[in-house]
Amino acid sequence: MAINAVKGTRDILAPEICNWTKYEEMARKLFRRYGFEEIRTPIFEYTEVFSRGIGEDTDIVHKEMYTFADRKGRSITLRPESTASVVRSYIEHRMDLQARVKRLFYIGPMFRYERPQKGRYRQFYQTGAEVFGSSHPYVDADTIEMVVRLLRDLGLTGLRVDINSVGCRECRPDYRSALQEYLSGHREELCEDCQRRMNNNPLRVLDCKVPGCGEVVKNAPSIQDHLCGGCLEHQHQVLHFLDVLGVTYQLATDLVRGLDYYTRTVFEVISEGLGAQNAILGGGRYDNLVKELGGPDVPAFGWALGMDRLMMVLGDRQLSTPDPTYFVLPIGNELAYAIETSVALKDAGHHAVVLAEASSLKSGLKQISKAGGRFAILAGESERERNILILRDMENSAQREIPVGDLLKEIENEIAE
Ligand SMILES: [Zn+2]
Ligand SMILES: [Zn+2]
Repeated sequence: MAINAVKGTRDILAPEICNWTKYEEMARKLFRRYGFEEIRTPIFEYTEVFSRGIGEDTDIVHKEMYTFADRKGRSITLRPESTASVVRSYIEHRMDLQARVKRLFYIGPMFRYERPQKGRYRQFYQTGAEVFGSSHPYVDADTIEMVVRLLRDLGLTGLRVDINSVGCRECRPDYRSALQEYLSGHREELCEDCQRRMNNNPLRVLDCKVPGCGEVVKNAPSIQDHLCGGCLEHQHQVLHFLDVLGVTYQLATDLVRGLDYYTRTVFEVISEGLGAQNAILGGGRYDNLVKELGGPDVPAFGWALGMDRLMMVLGDRQLSTPDPTYFVLPIGNELAYAIETSVALKDAGHHAVVLAEASSLKSGLKQISKAGGRFAILAGESERERNILILRDMENSAQREIPVGDLLKEIENEIAE
C-alpha cells in the first residue's frame, strides 16, 4: 500500500512553490537592506530552550510541542517557533560582543501538534526578524515598517497594524492585580482554562477565543490606564516614528499576544482579506528574555510571520512569471543534435530539457503539451544538414525555421515580447 504524508503536513508543489521561492528571495533582499543577517538554527533543540523561552504555562509548551527522548534519553523538541532558538544562539555565540545592535532574520519550518484546519499545518513555515541590543523605540517602528513594506511589495492591500503596550516589570504587576480583581468578580462566566489562567497569568484571558470570556473581557480594565511613565513615553515615541515612516496603525488596547515574554510594544499586522483569524504576523518587544535564558541583560524586539497563511492570502496571484522551458525534441537519430542545442541554451541561462524518451514527433509533442510547455525546438536530420532548428509555439502550433546561430537572439526576443 502506498504511504501518504503525515496528517497535518503537506507537500508544496509547483506551481504554488514558485510563489514560495519568489517570496523568500524578496524577503532576503529586503531584510538585508535594513541591516539584517540571516540565521539558521537547528530545527530541534533541548526541550528546555522552549519551556523556559516560551513559558511553561502557554498552550504551545503545554500541549502543542513535538517532544521526544533521543537515544541517550535527552528530551528534544522540534521547534514550535524560533525566537527562543535565536536567543539561545545569540547567547551561545556571545553576539552581544560582536555588535551593539544585532539584527537577525530567519525563514524555515516550525512544528506544532495542533488540530489541522485550513491554513494551519503541523509543519508550518515562518519568517521572523529579531533585533538585539537596543531599547530605542525607533527599533520597534523600523522593524515593523520593514515587514509592512514586504507585504506591500507582495501586492497586499487592506493591511492594518494593531499596536499596544503590555507594560514592563514596573507597571504590569499593578495592572495584573487590577485585572485579577475584576476577573475574580466574573469567575463563573470564564471558561475552565481562563479560571486557571486568571491566577497564573490573567493577561492571557484577554486573548481567549471563547465567546463567554470575550464578553467578560469587554469591560475589563485597560492596560493603557496602568502604564508607567517610561512605558507611556516609549509607546508615544514608537507611534511617532511609525508616523515618520508613514505606517498607518491603530492603538488596539486589548491586544496582548499569547506569550509571556513580551514587554512594552506588542503588535499584529492584519490583512482584511483573511476573515476572523486574520493576523498574518505579530510580535513585540522582549527586553527580559535574553537575561532570563542565561544571557546578558540585552533588550530585544521581534516578529514572526506565518508563511502558509500569507500564501493563502496571495491566492492565485503570481509573484513572478517563470521563464519558459524549451523542450528540445530529437527527430529520428538526432539525439546528439538535440543535446548540443540544449547545452547552448543552458550555457546562455535558459531552461532547456531534451526529450530523449520521445519515440516520435507526435508522442514528443504530446509529452510537451502535457507538461504545459510553451515552446518546442525540433531537431531532425534535415535541420542539422541545413544548420537550422524549428521553433514551434505550442499555443498556436506555428512553426518557423531558425538558423542555429540566431537561436539565442530569437529566444530572447520571444521572452521580451
Ligand atoms: Zn512600565
Ligand atoms: Zn477563556
